[in-house]
Amino acid sequence: MADLKGALIGCGFFAVNQMHGWRDAEGARIVSICDRDPERLRAVGDEFGITRRYLSVDDLFADGGFDFVDIATTVGSHRSLVELAARHGIATICQKPIAPTMEDAEAMVEACAKAGVPFMVHENFRWQSPIRAVKAAIDSGTVGEVFWGRVSFRSGYDVFSGQPYLATGKRFIIEDLGIHALDVARYIFGDATAVTARTRRVNPAIAGEDVATMLLDHEGAITSIVDCSYATRLPIEPFPETLIEVDGSKGTLRLSQGYHLTMHSKDGTKVTNVEPPVLSWAAPPWHNIQESVSRIQQHWVEALRAGREPDTSGLDNLETFALVEASYLSAAEGRTVSLAEVI
Ligand code: NAD
Repeated sequence: MADLKGALIGCGFFAVNQMHGWRDAEGARIVSICDRDPERLRAVGDEFGITRRYLSVDDLFADGGFDFVDIATTVGSHRSLVELAARHGIATICQKPIAPTMEDAEAMVEACAKAGVPFMVHENFRWQSPIRAVKAAIDSGTVGEVFWGRVSFRSGYDVFSGQPYLATGKRFIIEDLGIHALDVARYIFGDATAVTARTRRVNPAIAGEDVATMLLDHEGAITSIVDCSYATRLPIEPFPETLIEVDGSKGTLRLSQGYHLTMHSKDGTKVTNVEPPVLSWAAPPWHNIQESVSRIQQHWVEALRAGREPDTSGLDNLETFALVEASYLSAAEGRTVSLAEVI
């Protein structure tokens, strides 16, 4: 079967990982790239040997010649680009966060549904192999019925040097990083019905919040804590590891720093190393995230070919984005917010 042909829009900081992932993907390749910044367009085009380069998305779509687009621009442009792709009947991947507002996110999902085009949000954290290992361990039944959990990302890593725009937005950690942790909580503990959140800013040099703690009520009477911080200085910097705790009726699971997965039940305690592989193009400590980029892209190719909805489809991602919106509302008003209020 012929490879699917893709066009990448946005050749910035993170897109380089996506280009590496596409180079390794089975059944798909990138044939065109677009960025309004000529220097970034040139750098990515030269590194990956892509000759069809566009400074304008209108020119990119006018020329066509691809089966899907991979949108790797920042959030402000996501709605217009997804709607443009839908108007051209082109299957679309869009980076997280899906949109700046719920209204935009819902409009994007509707535009793709009306046009009949597949739409996936590049929500890659749930594709990290250590997180998959936690889910598989729960599904094996060893810890019994899950009643409590925690998804935690605490770091002092300087994310602002690679992504300076993160220091300037009114919203920071929930929208940028917490969104991944909230999606992982949904993936592991199921959909949430309500959230209670607290936020604060520790770093005076940024505009948004850099610490957030969310208490989630999940369907099935599971409670989870999702906590994230970019103001936490630890003896060994854990970036970019997501740590997970799960308590069940028959035992416990702990994904701890250094990618150790500890499963404890009446049968004993088993510790497994679940560190992801370092792909040929990857560089620790980013290898964890980089591997998940490859995995979600391969999932997209398989879903597109099979005509199946991808796991993190736009529709699915509305539930994750609703948690972001509900968390900000809860923190602003100091109350528990039901998801039904925002979706
Ligand atoms: P960036 O600013 O480094 O890159 C964005 C690029 O898009 C820039 O080169 C810009 O010129 C280009 N661009 C913007 N609007 C355009 C338009 N209308 N037409 C053509 N080009 C346009 O940003 P980044 O840090 O790479 O982040 C991009 C996206 O990736 C964000 O949504 C961010 O949240 C996401 N991201 C995801 C992960 C992850 O693990 N999934 C990690 C980092 C960033």
